[in-house]
Amino acid sequence: MALRTAAEFLAGLRDGREVYYRGERVPNVVDHAELGVAARHAAIDFELAENPKYRDLAVHRDGSDTYSAYFRLPRNTQDLLARSKLIEAGTAEGATLVLLIKEIGTDALFALKRVLTRAGDALGTQRLEAFYRRCRDNDLAMAVAQTDAKGDRSKRPSEQSDPDLYVRVTEKRADGIVVRGAKIHTSCTPYVDEVIVLPSRSMAPGDEPWSLAFAVPVATPGLRLYASDYLHGIDDPFTRPVSTNHKMVETLTVFDNVFVPWERVFFIDRPDLAGATALTFVEFHRFTAVSYKLPLLDALVGAGIAVAKANGIERAGHVRDKLTWLGGYAETVRGLTELAALRCKVEDGVARPDVFTTNLAKWTFARDFHRAMETVQDLAGGLLVTGPGGKDWNSSAVRPVLEKYLPGAWPAERRMAIINLISDLTTRLYGGYQAVLAVHAEGSIEAEKMAMYRAYDASRAVSLAMRLAGLEAAAANK
Ligand SMILES: Cc1cc2nc3c(=O)[nH]c(=O)nc-3n(C[C@H](O)[C@H](O)[C@H](O)COP(=O)(O)OP(=O)(O)OC[C@H]3O[C@@H](n4cnc5c(N)ncnc54)[C@H](O)[C@@H]3O)c2cc1C
Repeated sequence: MALRTAAEFLAGLRDGREVYYRGERVPNVVDHAELGVAARHAAIDFELAENPKYRDLAVHRDGSDTYSAYFRLPRNTQDLLARSKLIEAGTAEGATLVLLIKEIGTDALFALKRVLTRAGDALGTQRLEAFYRRCRDNDLAMAVAQTDAKGDRSKRPSEQSDPDLYVRVTEKRADGIVVRGAKIHTSCTPYVDEVIVLPSRSMAPGDEPWSLAFAVPVATPGLRLYASDYLHGIDDPFTRPVSTNHKMVETLTVFDNVFVPWERVFFIDRPDLAGATALTFVEFHRFTAVSYKLPLLDALVGAGIAVAKANGIERAGHVRDKLTWLGGYAETVRGLTELAALRCKVEDGVARPDVFTTNLAKWTFARDFHRAMETVQDLAGGLLVTGPGGKDWNSSAVRPVLEKYLPGAWPAERRMAIINLISDLTTRLYGGYQAVLAVHAEGSIEAEKMAMYRAYDASRAVSLAMRLAGLEAAAANK
């Protein structure tokens, strides 16, 4: 089997999976008013592969094999740049919201491959390879459940008051293992085929039951998904041109004595592999992250320029200053993303984006994202939160009043379209979602700084400073 169509993907989700939304069991996610929107957003991934405009980017041909390009193992800078472009294109087609049903899963598969290879774990590598081929050859969608519920952040898994706050093994059987516990914030779980489970932190002796990696189909008995309703809202394409048709859903992902056959267990009882897996995963995943941030940044820059024109302020000095900063910010993130690919490290035949540069890109994005939102809000004005709704706009009694009083340098219809885009991107539920996504998703801002600190090679800077200070001999002795 090669590539699936969007319709085949959606049909595969009708499998009796156990999903709860707003306190009730969801009979079928595809037909659900909110989850169905998210599933159709994710299905854009499959439409991309059929679209002649994107086919070369989205489909990989390797001899007689044809598969989704997300599964192509990056071997050099060009592969990483092509992967970044694909992620960016998918997110742009998703109207600034990442699709994330293959991006994150392949990040996890590449990370596991590297960790198991380096550990010389032949059995784990063999199981992983079989699972990778199953996902690739059946064009499957994957979620990654890494972040554990965690409980008291100052305590290790084995020190928590409830051992289920991190996912753990409770039983080993001849045919597989039984796992219990919960992950949180798991994106897209209600509408993917497989969940890949990774450790979220380094582990120490005593943490063996929590030191494991495995994968299960979503419709596995005992796997329960409690979906967030954060993006639930009044859908109105006039005031919410993006979020009416594009949603992503996270779950509290509970493993209630879930059986996992051995062939789906990649490692177990390995505290020594837990931290390496967590770190290697984010090395790939933060590169995915900065790639998918780019359309959102472009949208903010474009909307900022457009609303300045709509309001007739584009020639003002402070406006040019703000737009210059905004464009510079977006291009800095883009440039660092490309640099992370250019500086990649190739080991065991796999190209990893440069760790320092990737984290610098992600940190630069996250650190200034709220300022970027503020800048665009500043240029747009208060109509972002005081403007009319779609029903007003469509009312023959109200619309003439709006058309008379709401124009700027642009007529009211065009001006309100751009103001409503900014409102959706920065002030409404979707804006709030993106604001938190920027700070926390793919690791908190502190996690990025810690990764930069660990990866930074200071030797060039230190040796220059020591030479300028006449301390070469001291530097050589240290
Ligand atoms: C929209 C969204 C989508 C996501 N999707 C996924 C997904 O698909 N899969 C997945 O696995 N995860 C996902 N995540 C989880 C994401 O990686 C986490 O949100 C992130 O790692 C932060 O964890 P937390 O939310 O539990 O916050 P916390 O870890 O509780 O962080 C809160 C604060 O505490 C600090 N802190 C935490 N621990 C310590 C400590 N030990 N010492 C000192 N300070 C500490 C942090 O730096 C931060 O300032 C998603 C998150 C979001 C918001």
